[in-house]
Amino acid sequence: MTAPIRLYDSMRRQKVPFEPLVPGKVGVYVCGPTTYAPAHIGHAYSAIAFDTVRRSLEFLGWDVTYVRNVTDIDDKIIKRAHETGEDPFAMSAHFADTYNQDMARFNVRPPTIEPKVTGHIPQIIALVERLVANGHAYAVDGDVYYEVEKFPPYGKLSGQTLDELKDGARIGVDERKKNPADFALWKSAKPGEPSWDSPWGKGRPGWHIECSAMTVTHLGETFDIHAGGKDLIFPHHENEIAQSQGADGEGTFARYWLHNGFLNFEGVKMSKSLGNVFNCDQIADAVGGEALRYFCVKHHYRSPVDFEVEVTVDGQPFDPIKHAGRDKQVRFYSLEAADRELAKFYETLAKVDAFMATGGDGGTGAYAPGAEDLLPAARDALADDFNAPVVVASLHASLTLANKLLESGKGIDKEMRRRTLGKLAKDMRTAGGAIGVFTQEPAAYLAERRARLVKAKNIDVAAVEAAIAERAAARAAKDFARGDEIRKRLGEMGVALHDLQGGTDWSVQD
Ligand SMILES: [Zn+2]
Repeated sequence: MTAPIRLYDSMRRQKVPFEPLVPGKVGVYVCGPTTYAPAHIGHAYSAIAFDTVRRSLEFLGWDVTYVRNVTDIDDKIIKRAHETGEDPFAMSAHFADTYNQDMARFNVRPPTIEPKVTGHIPQIIALVERLVANGHAYAVDGDVYYEVEKFPPYGKLSGQTLDELKDGARIGVDERKKNPADFALWKSAKPGEPSWDSPWGKGRPGWHIECSAMTVTHLGETFDIHAGGKDLIFPHHENEIAQSQGADGEGTFARYWLHNGFLNFEGVKMSKSLGNVFNCDQIADAVGGEALRYFCVKHHYRSPVDFEVEVTVDGQPFDPIKHAGRDKQVRFYSLEAADRELAKFYETLAKVDAFMATGGDGGTGAYAPGAEDLLPAARDALADDFNAPVVVASLHASLTLANKLLESGKGIDKEMRRRTLGKLAKDMRTAGGAIGVFTQEPAAYLAERRARLVKAKNIDVAAVEAAIAERAAARAAKDFARGDEIRKRLGEMGVALHDLQGGTDWSVQD
């Protein structure tokens, strides 16, 4: 059974009911990365947003085909490879691999299909030939341009008129273009550049044409949802529409458009000169990948998000000129807070798992009040334009109830308590999975987090373990004063002890 959904369509500029082309199935195309450098937080933010959409759709019973492309030939790739002396294809393949490794750390699943531009050159050439043949494009000296005047709806997605676009494109205009807003479908090769044979001579595709060729190859002339970052609306998505509908007619191509909001760093956009472009591996190493995931799903995918971070050099705020080339210290305050919140969920899940392991599952029967609220609330929220923050709020309600039941069995039937805790933990994992959190074993997450905090706080693990052994010996000898003294000393170092059946565990307080 698929649940009906409503989504905000950027083309219609309103929330609309989603009607699939084929009942029960959804085809989604997301513009993926251009692979010429390590992925940064902006890439992760967009990938997480649409992975959450995909997981939500699956949670709601839809059969999703999720296509995310890789731009593996492009001006930026050629430029970068030229600078580093690498082979452009080997370099882009390397960064495509590291992109997927990075995304996996944020619980972003690999797409169903991951097409690459270099694997679609014949389809791209055929599409450009059709556009030339039907008068939407023209060739000049080995280049091919799309003639925007020939496509009257041009500008509809971004809400601009052709006159405005012409004015905007006047600076540094190429005299060979019929209209300043015309854009390249095929670029003739310069000496030493990678190229393919074409009816217009040796060359390579322009950026936009690849998505028109790949969507039709993998999802058909018309498909359900096209997604991407807000920064792609113009010109990239506008041009995709012009190309695809120019070839296949109006009414074809994407039926719904989803765009995610920007990530802002305390009100300013990401930029290298401000020192706030953070690579994915840097973030995942600093706070754990799931903390970024959790931070993202606490915000609606369309909202702009403010991200609190502090970059310093020797305790002074980072200055791009004064501190050029120096080692920067970075505190990801927003993500540290997210990680603390996430740890509370995992600690409770670990406690419930341990509790359930000591007895049965409580059998069948009624649950404590509130225990059955989570999944229906998650379904309603995700069916309403993928409202993940509402799911997070409901998860918090379940967390509170689970902790209450763990702390005390007072006023509740023993079996009902057990049954309810089992259900809460199971449903929290299910609802969490729909937005990409709580996918790890609690023990694995907590161990990884402890190791991270030990490193950040410079804690001597051997000394902590020796102190715990000393305390155990003191307590065995009934010297409880000594035991308490050791606990206090460790507490001052930021180490908290947890006495459990069979031994003492410890965690780092932050
Ligand atoms: Zn695209």
